[in-house]
Amino acid sequence: MSDAVILTLNAGSSSIKFAVYAQGDEPALRASGQVENLSPTQQTRLIVERDGDEQVTNIDANDHAGALDAILDKADHLFGGATVAGVGHRIVHGGTEFVAPTELTPEAIAALRTLEPLAPLHQPHNLDCVEAAIAAFPDAAQIACFDTAFHRTHPFVNDTFALPRQWFDEGVRRYGFHGLSYDYITSEIVRTEPSLAHGRVVIAHLGNGASMCAVKDGRSVGSTMGFTALDGLPMGTRCGQIDPGVLLYMMQHKGMNADQIADLLYRQSGLKGLSGLTHDMRTLEQSDDPQAREAIDYFVFRIRRELGGMSAVLSGLDALVFTGGIGENSARVRREVCSGMDWLCIAVDEAKNVENAHDIGTGRVRVMVVPTNEELVMARAVSAALSASH
Ligand code: ADP
Repeated sequence: MSDAVILTLNAGSSSIKFAVYAQGDEPALRASGQVENLSPTQQTRLIVERDGDEQVTNIDANDHAGALDAILDKADHLFGGATVAGVGHRIVHGGTEFVAPTELTPEAIAALRTLEPLAPLHQPHNLDCVEAAIAAFPDAAQIACFDTAFHRTHPFVNDTFALPRQWFDEGVRRYGFHGLSYDYITSEIVRTEPSLAHGRVVIAHLGNGASMCAVKDGRSVGSTMGFTALDGLPMGTRCGQIDPGVLLYMMQHKGMNADQIADLLYRQSGLKGLSGLTHDMRTLEQSDDPQAREAIDYFVFRIRRELGGMSAVLSGLDALVFTGGIGENSARVRREVCSGMDWLCIAVDEAKNVENAHDIGTGRVRVMVVPTNEELVMARAVSAALSASH
């Protein structure tokens, strides 16, 4: 067993993030990295980190298969002669059928392809990478880990829209995403703060994609994301919550077609659309443009609204956890989200906040900063699947 490793893959349209773990009861990280600029028009790069050392190589690849070939070229460095026993894939959408890590058989892949319209930014790339990985590692177990699975414990009222029933029955529901991140944060809370294991917790995953999750007794009872990963908080380039009447107006009075609206909502909106500058929070924070300020104000405003709503749904609050690139690093966003929240027993120690300390709260409600680790959740799932098959 000790000479087997687990590879995790998280594929986007122009990147693959990966990590290598030694197999064990708790998988141990050996190396990580990413292939970036995966497109015919850009110089693709492979970045590998191992033992604190980072290697950057220009590579010749413009699709997922080419990227995996480049990773295989580094097999000695990455795997140290060990066999890749299992590959964990981040799959953004599992629909109603896939509620736990699943072996990627041809039937499962075909079923997951039918969900591509529900997550057009992610699902096709996730599955292209699965097919490339099956070719590259034909003897390894290929395990899908779903961003929707953690939310399948939602009560009906949090899963449904107020549409005629047939729509719910055919799968038009609130699925919720970022489940691997919420799974990890919840496991960390149970490990490090046992008193919160049965508590009422709101987790804010704030990155380029952003959502919040209400957790009770370690299970998701609500998420800001809905049928697709567009709903809820504004994101880097996605609009978040929007009145569906706006879409009707665009179609009926502005002559926009579905592709144009999709491009607007997925790629031109959010922080980028509001600021007119960039999707990147760090850059917005450094800007003195008033529209940058307004974009951050709107981001914070929506988080505060959702925090209030989720606290009501949970009948109170015991902890607020920040994670994701913005949640882990932006003292300003955390400060502004928490300011004037003493009515909810939330208060923040600013000295700890600027240090991104683990515990930044001073009120009854714990306020925590917990770096997420979606790769470890995938490695754990692959390890469990491998153990079960022996
Ligand atoms: P993804 O959803 O693509 O995984 P990340 O979780 O990496 O995204 O988050 C990226 C976001 O985090 C970007 O908006 C980036 O500007 C922001 N971010 C990273 N570091 C900081 C920082 N020190 N201050 C403010 N924002 C930051």
